[in-house]
This record gives sequence, structure tokens and C-alpha cells, in this order.
Amino acid sequence: TPSILWFRRDLRLADQPALIAAAAEGAVIPVYVLDDETPRHRRMGGASRWWLHHSLASLDSSLRARGSRLILRRGRSEEVLAALAAETGAARVHAIRHYEPWWRNAERAVGERLDLVRHDGNYLAPPGSVTSGSGGQYRIFTPFWRALSARMPPPVPLAAPGAIPAPQAWPQSERLEDWGLLPVRPDWAGGFREEWQPGEAGAGDRLEAFAPAAARYEERRNLPAVEGTSRLSPHLHFGEVSPARAWHAAERADGSAGTFLAELGWRDYAANVIRQIPDYAARNGSAKYDAIPWRTGAEADADLRAWQQGRTGYPIVDAGMRQLWASGWMHNRVRMIAASFLVKHLLIDWRAGERWFWDTLVDADYASNAVNWQWVAGTGIDANQWGRIMAPLLQSEKFDTAAYIRRWVPELAALPEPAIHDPESHGARPRNYPAPLIAHRAGRERALAALRTIA
Ligand code: FAD
Repeated sequence: TPSILWFRRDLRLADQPALIAAAAEGAVIPVYVLDDETPRHRRMGGASRWWLHHSLASLDSSLRARGSRLILRRGRSEEVLAALAAETGAARVHAIRHYEPWWRNAERAVGERLDLVRHDGNYLAPPGSVTSGSGGQYRIFTPFWRALSARMPPPVPLAAPGAIPAPQAWPQSERLEDWGLLPVRPDWAGGFREEWQPGEAGAGDRLEAFAPAAARYEERRNLPAVEGTSRLSPHLHFGEVSPARAWHAAERADGSAGTFLAELGWRDYAANVIRQIPDYAARNGSAKYDAIPWRTGAEADADLRAWQQGRTGYPIVDAGMRQLWASGWMHNRVRMIAASFLVKHLLIDWRAGERWFWDTLVDADYASNAVNWQWVAGTGIDANQWGRIMAPLLQSEKFDTAAYIRRWVPELAALPEPAIHDPESHGARPRNYPAPLIAHRAGRERALAALRTIA
């Protein structure tokens, strides 16, 4: 009897323990279920759907090269899988464990109807397994990372099988083109196509290109104008490359890639946080911030739109927000600056920013997005403070962003330094570029005043 291989955010054949286990038992029926019902308001955003389309196409062709194929079905995970099992006589479902609250629900529901075997492999260590001496879960990154790195390196990645046993007859599959995952009118994905190659092969290329540069990660990772980071995040999110494989590639390339490895550790940390607090994207980690007097109403809405569109009058913020819109990705340093600007300078609830990122990032990840937003806001369970307010203009100069701003905010391309970081104060603002929504000092004062109201 065949078994079902249930793909979700693990769209790879290498280092795919669920595949290895399924193939060891006999014929394998690989399936991807487009389930928009279980996640409800957390259904995948637009940028992620674009990625998913191409990643599934790539996965199907890799499977076909091994005598297999990808079956596509839509609907509630447990219903679709139960129907498929009945149709094919499959006895078992193999899957990699996921930690988003809706996936945990789906796994429970599938497990009630079918023999679901769950495997680890999407994290360096299974979330929940890294505990303190007394068995407790970590809430703060640094001690978590200390404990996790003591367990590293992760297991050596499993090779992709050369052939995958096929069932005697293939069940029907829906057509990917019918799923409407790609934008039609307007087609906003032009910049995405230039920047990304979704799928396992693209992930492997990205990893190989980056691995030798991991040695210089530490010195270059904060420079948005330089390609100093791996850009693996969407590949890791969709599981096209396992974190264990990324770990081994970076470590092999150079012994001093430790800072990069710690970033992989942040990804594990975020999964551990949402495992402990499933609604972390909806609720302040620290309840005292529930009383922050966030701005609401027409003026705040207009400010939120200006932020989304990259028209805040802060060049580094606008460059980041436009990079996000055009390419589905933003440099980490700029994510921090842009997020801090929304939360502190505009005093807009971090959850509005989290939602925007959810819809626009190709690496939109429930855990990493919520954890980073709460970290920047200072509302989380970690040690960061709300009262720490980034100075966007200083950050912009410090991290040498002029070339980055020129690329993404063409209205400012002709400005020299230092005016390009702060055209308003230098009397150099072109007429087609907006004035700052609020001056830095006024924004800072307003944020601190808001903090005082809850102290
Ligand atoms: P690299 O610097 O090359 O790092 C390697 C990998 O480590 C990344 O691909 C990613 O998987 C992981 N990683 C790095 N930094 C972090 C971090 N701070 N937290 C968690 N994992 C990390 N990352 C996401 O993957 N999805 C998100 O939805 C997301 N939302 C964010 C929201 C905000 C407000 C901020 C400040 C950061 C967010 N990040 C998110 C984290 C980080 O910005 C991206 O992971 C990183 O920019 C991806 O680029 P890279 O692959 O070149 O990273």
C-alpha cells in the first residue's frame, strides 16, 4: 500500500526525512494541499502565493525527474487527505512537523482520521526540545542560542533519493494554473521575477553563491547597499533548503561564519516562541503594553498608507518600503528601521505593520515576523525596551545607505551625501519627494510620552 507525503513548507527533496521514511515503506503519493480554510485570516499573503506557485512547479518537475509527481488538491487539509487516502488505499501520511497554530490544529485533525507520522527537519533542533537545565522553555534569545549551539552541528543532511517509488495508478491532480496564485491585473511581480528563483534548485544556487561569503557576513550584513547577506529567507521559509544544510554549507566554507549561524538560530528561536505563545502575532508578549495609546483614525490611516507606499519623507524608510513592494524582500537593517519608524515615530500599532509584511514579503513567516515586530516594538517577551527608539537618519548615515536610497528612491538619486539621508534639513528636498510625516525629535517625544501614560 502506498503512503501519502504531505508537503507544506518543506518543498524539497534533499534532507527531506518525511520523503525518506515514506519511500522506505513503498510507493509514495506526494501531495500539496492548498488549504485557505484552516489558517482563516492567516491565509498566505500575495507575495507568498507568487512564490508558492513557482516553488510547486519546481517541486513537480524534480519529482517527475525521479519517476514521481506532485498531486495538487484544494480544501481543508484533513478532509482532502482523508479523501485521497480512501481513493488510493494509502495507509499512512508522512509529514514534517510545523508550528504555526493553524498547522498544529490541522495536524491534530489529520491525526484523528489517519495514521499521521510526523518528522523533524525544518529547524536546527525541534522547537520545544531546547530547554534549560530545569527543563523550562527559553523566552530570551541569548540563553536559547547558547543552549542550541551546544547541540550543534545539526545532523548531516540526507541526500535526495535518486528514484521515488510510484503507485500503480496516479490519483487526479488539479492544475496549478487554476489556483490563481499569480497576480493578473496589475502584474506587480516583475521585480520578483528578476530577483528570485523559487524552488530547490534556486535555493541551492543561492546557498552555493553565499557560502564562501559567509566569512565576511559579520562585516557586511548591516550594509543594505551591499549584497552581504544570504537572501535565503524565502527559500528557508518554504523549506526549499533545510537549515541544517545551510548550516553545514556556511560552516564548511569558513570557520568564522558564526554570526550567520546565529541568525539561523533566530529562526529557531522564533519558532520556539510561537510554540509557547501561539497568538504571538496578535497579542503583546508583555501585557502592560496593551494600554499604549496607539494612534487611530483618518490621520493615522493616511500615515500608515504613506509608510506602506514608501512616502514618509524619510529616505531610508521609503527606500526599504519600496524595495519590499518591488521585490518582496527588504534588507534586515532596513526592516528594523522601517518597523521602528512605524511603531515609534508614527505611533501606529505594530500589528498593522506585521500584517503589511505578511502580505508583501516573499519570506513572510508567522513566527519570524511576529517575533521581530515585537522585538522592534519592545512589546515582546524578550529583553528589548519600548523606550529604545531608533534614529532613522543617523542609522541611514551610519550604515552607508546612499547607494541603496539612490536605487530605490530615484527622486533623490541626484542628491549628494549627507543631504540624501535627510533632504529636508539640508534644504535639498525635491518637489516630488514628500516632507517628513513628523520630525524626528517630535516623533521621539510623542513615543516617549505614550510610554509615560502606561508607566
Ligand atoms: P541572512 O542574514 O542571510 O540570515 C540567514 C537566515 O537566518 C535568514 O534567511 C533567516 O531565515 C534567518 N534569520 C536572519 N535574521 C533573522 C531574524 N532576525 N529572525 C528570524 N530569522 C532570521 N524573517 C523571515 O524569514 N520572515 C519574516 O516574516 C521576517 N519578518 C521580519 C520583520 C521585521 C520587522 C524584522 C526586523 C525582521 C524580520 N525578519 C523576517 C528577519 C530578517 O529580516 C530576515 O530573515 C532577513 O532579512 C532575511 O534575509 P537573508 O536571508 O539575507 O538573511
